[in-house]
Amino acid sequence: MLKVKNNGNLIIISGPSGAGKGTICKELIRRNENIIPSISFTSRSIANGEKEGVDYFYISKQEFENKIKEGFFLEYAIVHNNDYYGTPKDKVLEYLNKGYNVILEIDIEGALKVKEIMKDVLCIFILPPSMKELRNRLYKRNRESEDKILARFKKAYQEINEIKKYNYVVVNDEVINAVNKIEAILLAEKCRVDRIEELDLDTLEESVHEDLIKRDK
Ligand code: 5GP
Repeated sequence: MLKVKNNGNLIIISGPSGAGKGTICKELIRRNENIIPSISFTSRSIANGEKEGVDYFYISKQEFENKIKEGFFLEYAIVHNNDYYGTPKDKVLEYLNKGYNVILEIDIEGALKVKEIMKDVLCIFILPPSMKELRNRLYKRNRESEDKILARFKKAYQEINEIKKYNYVVVNDEVINAVNKIEAILLAEKCRVDRIEELDLDTLEESVHEDLIKRDK
């Protein structure tokens, strides 16, 4: 028998605004019942088409600062020079301990903090197919003012400069391709030899790998 550790991975997805992180995460979660999203808290206001408790939990700056003092967050950051965004610690740990993969869609500052304090963290950077396409996507989604769009586009260059701090890079040309690649990364992670707990050479059938990626939720 080949028995491997079945604790979940913490998957961090980062990349510039408009690279398609949100769509990729939604599709990964839809296709894999062992992937759970972490819903972040933010002090920014709710945007068109977003839902409380689905996209974020929306709280005031004061409430956010109180939660920082209570030690509520695994990590938090001020993003786009303006608003707080943070990952709730207890929920993430609870799901990882149950064996789920937990997905965090967070910025680079948060990603690096999490990498320092947690093990089994997979940092995946999502790139758009081109900067021209990124710009088009930012305008098309019609969520922010012209000023904000330009600021996000500028910031994209700085973010991409940090790409070497990540473990994997995935180009989002088509969502389905990007999702397939991330599923392959997760499967490869599960096959790492440092996950082996027991290896009985008489009966070598795998007891775990068949249920690694469960489809069709
Ligand atoms: P948006 O306002 O477009 O939803 O998100 C802005 C940025 O905040 C994105 O780059 C996103 O990855 C990042 N973000 C969202 N939630 C968190 C979080 O909990 N922590 C950190 N550090 N960044 C976050």
